Amino acid sequence: MADQTTTTPPAVPDAAAAEGKPAAPKVKTRKPKQRACDEKDPKGKLCAGHLKRWYDYPREIEQLVGKGAEIYRCEFCKVLYRPDPQQQPNSLTIRY
Ligand SMILES: [Zn+2]
Repeated sequence: MADQTTTTPPAVPDAAAAEGKPAAPKVKTRKPKQRACDEKDPKGKLCAGHLKRWYDYPREIEQLVGKGAEIYRCEFCKVLYRPDPQQQPNSLTIRY
């Protein structure tokens, strides 16, 4: 307990340092049939938020994903998801 051999300051995780400033949003790609967010919070809890189609995204997102791109966003953690490249847009199984 009273071991004072080191004076190293506690390590600051990059994630904590990055928090608070508007970093570029995280963009992931949906896995086949994925409908819920699989992000984990710092405690390791699964987000499981719904991925909703996002239509009117701001310009900075447009620069990120491309103009008119099909993009989804988690309703909880706001992570962005590109559509699964293997999933054809004309598939009748992905109607919402
Ligand atoms: Zn999420």
